[in-house]
Amino acid sequence: MTRYAIIGAGLAGLTAAWEIRQSDPDALIDVFEAEDRIGGKLHTVPFDSGPTDMGAEAYLALRSDATDFFTGLGLGDDLVSPSGARSLVYSGGELHPLPGGGVMGIPASSAPVRDLVSAETAARIDAEGEAPAIDWEVGQDASVGTLVTERYGAEVTDHLVSALLGGVYSCAAEDLGIRATVPQLAAALDELAESGQKVTLSAAVQLCESRRTPRDPGSTPTPVFAAFRHGYAQVYEALAEQAQADIHLDAFVAGIARDLRGYHLKGPGVSPEAPYDRLLVTTPAPTTAVLLREVAPEASAALRAVQLASSVVVGMKFDSAAGLPDNSGILVAVDEPGVRAKAFTFSSKKWPHLGARGGALVRASFGRFGDDALVRAEEDVLVDAALDDLEHITGFDGRAAGLSEIYVQRWFGGLPRYDETHLATVAAVREGVAGVPSLEVAGAWAGGVGVPAVIDDARAAAARLMQVG
Ligand SMILES: Cc1cc2nc3c(=O)[nH]c(=O)nc-3n(C[C@H](O)[C@H](O)[C@H](O)COP(=O)(O)OP(=O)(O)OC[C@H]3O[C@@H](n4cnc5c(N)ncnc54)[C@H](O)[C@@H]3O)c2cc1C
Repeated sequence: MTRYAIIGAGLAGLTAAWEIRQSDPDALIDVFEAEDRIGGKLHTVPFDSGPTDMGAEAYLALRSDATDFFTGLGLGDDLVSPSGARSLVYSGGELHPLPGGGVMGIPASSAPVRDLVSAETAARIDAEGEAPAIDWEVGQDASVGTLVTERYGAEVTDHLVSALLGGVYSCAAEDLGIRATVPQLAAALDELAESGQKVTLSAAVQLCESRRTPRDPGSTPTPVFAAFRHGYAQVYEALAEQAQADIHLDAFVAGIARDLRGYHLKGPGVSPEAPYDRLLVTTPAPTTAVLLREVAPEASAALRAVQLASSVVVGMKFDSAAGLPDNSGILVAVDEPGVRAKAFTFSSKKWPHLGARGGALVRASFGRFGDDALVRAEEDVLVDAALDDLEHITGFDGRAAGLSEIYVQRWFGGLPRYDETHLATVAAVREGVAGVPSLEVAGAWAGGVGVPAVIDDARAAAARLMQVG
């Protein structure tokens, strides 16, 4: 019987445990989790009105591999689609529809963004194709924000690109790498450089737009996102149950040692068991760096470069939805004076299954990499900031609408910063780990932060681990 240890019972750890169990019914699988609950950044909270996600709330349903995986877990009937209500962006003291076209808010011309930028910036976007070419080497990376600001000006970065990317990565565009976060744009820049054409941002965005498959006008569009009727708890509970692993809660792993007999785990709540034959580490990057120090020093050193962004989600249930815009949510431009929230999700407008509960459910998000003072603020300060910003932006008076439930979820170090060095760092870590027998790593820092990417990465790591010996 092979003895597996998995550190971390978030999505990566539980998925890997499930994957191992599919192939090896007799395996002993111990999962060690520092917290008193499983799920990590997936956290469904029992509001009076029903289960409500306070971490991830959806996944990219265009990734059919993820939908297939959830269907295989038996959750196919509980997958739900969004209403199709559109998102807005708050910039220059006004609400605007999110511009169409472009990539991640980066337009190919000024037309879609005219309401969001000054006439000067609009002219600059349209003249960008005439500016000297970008000095781009195939395969290189750069900061998204730096490139957009250099080519189009800071307004495009601050009003749009950081607002969109910030909603996914909790980082401003300057702190994110093109290849890791807008890979289609990196591929287009490569393609222009490779074919000897002039490399400009507008030409690269145009190339991305031209690659989109036009939808057959008679067909029903596939929803871009999907969620779970009863929240992500359905996923982490199904994984835990079907993996039939021994999940140890309140088990903080502080160190790993290896000898000829296998891997030994140390730490409070981790009882000294017989050594493990194979080990998978799925903790956030800085923790993984510490844990690998003895057993994979090179990987550990490389992983220390990854920094984390913190954020906080304030979930609010109102008795009445009267006056809340009929939109799925609002992204806030980073340079918007007097507004502290970075985004609002109008969950009950975005998701019909949540709307059916009555009233209004709103999630306010605060905090970006390098700007996390509010993540530490007292709960009443955060709730006041959420209510004040919501009223300031939309006119919706949440206090008058009857605030019946509140949940504040702080995500300290919730997301890894995918900057322009990130992919090289991941490659170096993978190389370091590959040299150590029966050891694997997985998680949001490794193969992408989105739920489908984390599942994919964890399954692949589990498969490699099972191949050993
Ligand atoms: C606010 C927020 C919203 C998000 N929204 C979405 C979304 O809508 N859609 C989407 O696709 N993705 C979303 N994501 C991203 C996605 O949720 C995460 O990338 C994913 O859940 C990470 O899973 P993981 O297993 O890699 O890490 P984690 O969930 O961080 O799991 C790691 C686990 O390891 C445990 N651990 C840490 N240290 C130790 C230790 N020393 N010993 C033992 N255990 C330890 C932790 O407690 C944790 O349970 C969101 C993320 C956040 C923070």
